Amino acid sequence: MLPLIHTRNINIFVERFLSEKDFTAAGKDKDDQGILSVKKKDGGNSTKKKNDNFEAETTKSTAQSLEENRNLLLQPQNEMNKNSEELQRGVGRKKDCTGSGSADDLLKFIDSSPTPYHVVQTSAELLKDAGFQYLDEKNSWKGKLTAGGKYFYHRNGSTLVAFTIRQNYQPGNEFKIIGTHTDSPVLKVKPVSKRTAFGYLQTREEENAFIVNKETHLQPILTQLEGEMNKGDGDSKHSSLLLQLLAGELGVAVDQIVDMELTLADTQPGATWGPKNEFLSSPRLDNQVHCYTGLTALLLHGMTNDDTGVSMLVCFDHEEIGSDSAQGAGSPVMNEAIARVVGSFDPCPELLKITIRKSMLISADVAHAIHPNYSDKHDKQHQPAMTKGTVIKTNQNQRYATNAETGFILRELARRAGVPVQEFVVRNDSACGSTIGPILASGVGLRTVDLGISSLSMHSIRETMGCQDVVTNIKLFQQFFKEFGALDSQCDM
Ligand SMILES: [Zn+2]
Repeated sequence: MLPLIHTRNINIFVERFLSEKDFTAAGKDKDDQGILSVKKKDGGNSTKKKNDNFEAETTKSTAQSLEENRNLLLQPQNEMNKNSEELQRGVGRKKDCTGSGSADDLLKFIDSSPTPYHVVQTSAELLKDAGFQYLDEKNSWKGKLTAGGKYFYHRNGSTLVAFTIRQNYQPGNEFKIIGTHTDSPVLKVKPVSKRTAFGYLQTREEENAFIVNKETHLQPILTQLEGEMNKGDGDSKHSSLLLQLLAGELGVAVDQIVDMELTLADTQPGATWGPKNEFLSSPRLDNQVHCYTGLTALLLHGMTNDDTGVSMLVCFDHEEIGSDSAQGAGSPVMNEAIARVVGSFDPCPELLKITIRKSMLISADVAHAIHPNYSDKHDKQHQPAMTKGTVIKTNQNQRYATNAETGFILRELARRAGVPVQEFVVRNDSACGSTIGPILASGVGLRTVDLGISSLSMHSIRETMGCQDVVTNIKLFQQFFKEFGALDSQCDM
């Protein structure tokens, strides 16, 4: 058992925690979705009890919100704008995310998800409430998948796969896949973290994606040393104060902690702002925003039955460090997800190849909005702005996988959905970023479009984007799930 611990009173989040009792009680506290428990700081005597309360609180509100926002997201553009303005005011923000599809609800999703493990946990709760059934990757799916079913599973607790199979699905029909990533640039505590300097008790972190001296400038401060505070500190790897804090949060003895993964995270919640509350700022918008919009679109699509294929969301870990891991986009996760679904209906190998040829991937990751103080960073004819719609990203060196065919399909889906899209191409004299799109396009052979909501201050501890873009992005994804198969069958490309 590897509980996920969410501690709000210190600026360190335990991603994974392994204690001695895990070996004796393995699996005991896993719920029937195989998702490991999240401990909430504010109440409950046990992890299991707290999760029960969490489920009871959210089930009703999730169903209501989904129904309300399904109506909202199916409304014409002018009506949607009106409703979106109301949503953007942020009034009545509830404690927990419901998957309702608003900017305010996105902030609750992110506030609930300081690490990739929490992204998966938060998403799994919403999927479960919406009737998605958990699949165990370690067991055969033969006979378990049926047309009309909704399913999800995770790998390592940090990569998520969720999908719906339509009632009239036939093996070989198209997959409509939205790919995102669960990780963000962060600092992690090193395996040996104990450190003191000038009266401060610190911990040591591992570098990741910051342009400063990563060894000397980024050591986190835990507290100031006072008198006998650290007396009796017998642990050679971590300070006893840190271990005591963690043990207190976990409800275990210090000597029961045998290993851990700790991530530092901003503890301040996200917020909407601007004269009309038209912007939102939050940690981890890259790329939890698309985990959220993709998930919301899938939840809403799961309430309908108006397509012929499989609609799938895959949220990968480890994009920010290159995607090369057992659960990153460079792993077999994507190919296996398609192969196992198709194979559980019909094991004929050719059907998998046919499926991949008929399918398409939206690689969703944040884009750079034009910044008034740095406008020379953008090509003059490709200057996406916040609140003006999802950005299609193109690069002829294939740092983005968009091509004429996939770009056209996406623009046509946006036109039918009544939502705006914008174009981005990096300046020829600037290096172009990349994301999971080219990795999955080349690794799996999927037709791919790279896109994303534009933002300011990407990779900062707080990033900014337009509230309206969250709503229109969800609507675009809904259109993709609903109409890609029919549109693609009319195209001869
Ligand atoms: Zn990203």
